[in-house]
Amino acid sequence: MAPVIESAATVGIPSSIGSYGRPRSGVVVHYVGSSHVSRGSHASCRAQVRGWHSYHRNGNGWAGLGYHFCVCHHGIVMTGRGLNRVGAHAPGANASHVGVLIMLGGSQRPTANQLKGFREFRSWLGRKGVRSSNVTPHSRWISTSCPGNHLRSRVSSNSWGAGGTIPSTGGSSGGGASTEDDEMSLINLRKGDGKKNGRREHVIALQGLILKAGGSLPEYGTDGDYGDETAEGLRKVRKSVGSAAKKGWGNRVSGHAYAQLMQAVAKRQD
Ligand SMILES: [Zn+2]
Ligand SMILES: [Zn+2]
Repeated sequence: MAPVIESAATVGIPSSIGSYGRPRSGVVVHYVGSSHVSRGSHASCRAQVRGWHSYHRNGNGWAGLGYHFCVCHHGIVMTGRGLNRVGAHAPGANASHVGVLIMLGGSQRPTANQLKGFREFRSWLGRKGVRSSNVTPHSRWISTSCPGNHLRSRVSSNSWGAGGTIPSTGGSSGGGASTEDDEMSLINLRKGDGKKNGRREHVIALQGLILKAGGSLPEYGTDGDYGDETAEGLRKVRKSVGSAAKKGWGNRVSGHAYAQLMQAVAKRQD
């Protein structure tokens, strides 16, 4: 499912806050601090974001809201600085990482919709070329309570399901990745990955998806090693959905390659 993403204009803040940037290396998760967030209508969610924007601009003297995106308790993603701006959310990560505010505070837990919104948003970020498997807490960058104990433990266990941990891929069945988060971990796999660096299961999931997408792996099949055959299989799948798919375009699972692979799988399932 695609996440619901509202533009800055819809939220009611300026659409280009801060200077041009391309944060693509990962995601930094934030919460609002010790005070609880009121969970009312979505109009009030937007009003809260406008409030933080004024506070960051007038109180802190920044260009405006420091976060790239905010996810409210409805699971709706509201655009702050957006994907093509340097953020003001964590020193050392502002130019490289997407700052995402999960709108909760104190001991509040994320709602099921909020978790779902964040999961779908991560997939969307992956399709935009962000290394969205790399999620870090604000406290990884600076000494801070942010993003609070609850979100911090979810970040460290990479657990974004409604009720506990997300199961990992099912061994060597070769049936493809079983959950969205597993699929996300396929991004940035590259030729040479597999048995020797412990990424065998991810490579098997990738190979399963190549087959599901109508690609072929005639000699080695889903063997868990990302060699020439897997690279060529991925390249041809990309070509099948209209990519130029030049020589070498199967050597790494870029966000773009992943999106095209999923597009080919979806096409076959129609
Ligand atoms: Zn923070
Ligand atoms: Zn809302």
